[in-house]
Amino acid sequence: MKFLSTKRTLLSLAASVLAVLILRAPGLDYGTSYAANPLGPAAADLANFSALAPIDAHVHLYKDDPAFGAFLGRLNLRILNICVIDDRDPYAKGLEPQRSDALKVVHSTAGRAVFCTTFSPYDFEEPGFGRRAIQQLDADFAAVAIAVKIYKVMGMEMKSKAGKYVMPDDPAFEPIYRDIAAHNRTVVAHLAEPDSCWQPPNPASPDYEYYQQNPQEYAYAHPEWPSKAAILAARDHLVAENPNLRVIGAHLGSMETDVTQMARRFDRFPNFAVDTAARVPYFMLQPRDKVRAFLIKYQDRILYGTDLGAMPKDETEKALAEWTDTYARDWKFFATDQTVEYKGHSYQGLALPGPVLHKIFHDNAVHWLPGIMGTE
Ligand SMILES: [Zn+2]
Repeated sequence: MKFLSTKRTLLSLAASVLAVLILRAPGLDYGTSYAANPLGPAAADLANFSALAPIDAHVHLYKDDPAFGAFLGRLNLRILNICVIDDRDPYAKGLEPQRSDALKVVHSTAGRAVFCTTFSPYDFEEPGFGRRAIQQLDADFAAVAIAVKIYKVMGMEMKSKAGKYVMPDDPAFEPIYRDIAAHNRTVVAHLAEPDSCWQPPNPASPDYEYYQQNPQEYAYAHPEWPSKAAILAARDHLVAENPNLRVIGAHLGSMETDVTQMARRFDRFPNFAVDTAARVPYFMLQPRDKVRAFLIKYQDRILYGTDLGAMPKDETEKALAEWTDTYARDWKFFATDQTVEYKGHSYQGLALPGPVLHKIFHDNAVHWLPGIMGTE
């Protein structure tokens, strides 16, 4: 029965999307006043969002439930569905079962969920490591993968046999990066973490709850780990060494507290972009005018992403409620000058110009993730 009500909500949402599309066609209006919508501001926000054919460049959806495909269809949304290997997480220990689960989702969403594969970096000192990883990636590319995730276990967990922390620019990974570039695929690089990972617990931090729940990932409790600066320097080095490789720094490239840090990298590296996954609140915490000017100046380098997802055991209805809220909040923040609430504070939306929204929510993903629109 719960599902029925979700279905009804989605149906009426779809109807309102359609109504607003018809009302607003053909010219899109990204202004701040929406037509009165009986379903409330969330539905109105999502109607304008859907009109862009939005792309969420950072999702982890492993639950194969037709409701997700229906949701994506109704919102006119495509997602990059990202696999990640982390030996500290029972589900993510290896590429399976997540690859199979993610591929089922590709099919059940009629291709709206697009597959981003990964490789296990853990045996990087074993003979034949690079050759095996390349073979696996090439098979994934030949199937459906359009991108490859690399993860923060590089720099924050993995050690060589000699006891040194392994950085993302380690020569062992270089042939793999070259192979990805040769196949015109993209690297999604989640390297390092927010600054708060290295700082004492602070309940006001957007990440406070995460490190309370995941103490094994909390660098503050592991002073022996490399510094954040050292990890980002290694990331920058790999970007510089591979000018033909597109690299998307996940989570604002872990430069979330000051947009100036991103601007510096964009100026230096034409092959580098970022996604906004799970870091939109950090834009709210910085001066509005500074963030707005940054997003306008670097409008070709920012891909909208959320880090939303669902594990096979998660409740679909609960997950989709969270997806709806997140898309509505983010759209309101980027597209309007209305007030957005976050952790008990109010922030004014950025009211970005229409063409900039079009790039952040659609065009940039098309450019930086060739294949995201399918191969038709
Ligand atoms: Zn993620």
